[in-house]
Amino acid sequence: MPPTLADATAAIERLWPLDGAESWDAAGLLSGDPAAPVTRILLAVDAVRDTVDEAIEAGADLLLVHHPLLMRGVTTVAETTAKGALLATLIRGGCALVAAHTNADVVETGTSGRLAGLLGLVDPTPVVETGPGRGLGRVGALPEPITLGALARRVAGILPATAGGVRVAGEFDRVVRTVALCGGAGDSLLGEAAVRSADVYLTSDLRHHPASEARETARVTGGPALIDVSHWASEWLWLDTAAEELRRELPGVEIVVSELRTDPWDFVVLP
Ligand SMILES: [Zn+2]
Repeated sequence: MPPTLADATAAIERLWPLDGAESWDAAGLLSGDPAAPVTRILLAVDAVRDTVDEAIEAGADLLLVHHPLLMRGVTTVAETTAKGALLATLIRGGCALVAAHTNADVVETGTSGRLAGLLGLVDPTPVVETGPGRGLGRVGALPEPITLGALARRVAGILPATAGGVRVAGEFDRVVRTVALCGGAGDSLLGEAAVRSADVYLTSDLRHHPASEARETARVTGGPALIDVSHWASEWLWLDTAAEELRRELPGVEIVVSELRTDPWDFVVLP
């Protein structure tokens, strides 16, 4: 007997307990019959048309995503809406939808932990502790100091390719060692002591004002160089870890990571 969706969600909640999620989050089971059997799971960062179609074509019984499809109040799932159409495809195709979002960010092997591991940070600790062994972001030292430019190239070599590439604020030749980072949108951590005292802060979605203010503050009181990467790319790396952990929890279930790029940007034009 294959595990049921209830077994799969229980395994997911063992790995990424829902009590680790932020209060505004909407992680967990979004659609599906808990009694339905699960033999194949597709992992993706986003539930979008490409990944939903991929899940159905692959015969997946469960699409496990990082970003919850429904975050705010919904008054319609009509198929004239993008989200309604996605849910209808999933439900008709017999594929459940589960999100492991901020509950998967805070664990040791979560989105930020994975980035820290790939960069080789030594003994990374959370930027902000949110519970025993849990926290937002990670900070740690590189095994040896390198230039900011070399670090940016290393980051670019780790991440999957995206149109936006890797943007850096700081001198190319500056020597850096302590790296704070946060997978996904991390501008809310810019003021944290562990970020302020790091040589570099790596995250995504840094808008003009938070980035500009952080740079200006750094001129006055010191502060990190900034590395801004694709939100999708920074979290996609975590899917391999998640798949490995899930395979141990659900032996016999086929677990596949989507290779589709769901970063919304397609190209850049430089002046
Ligand atoms: Zn995210």
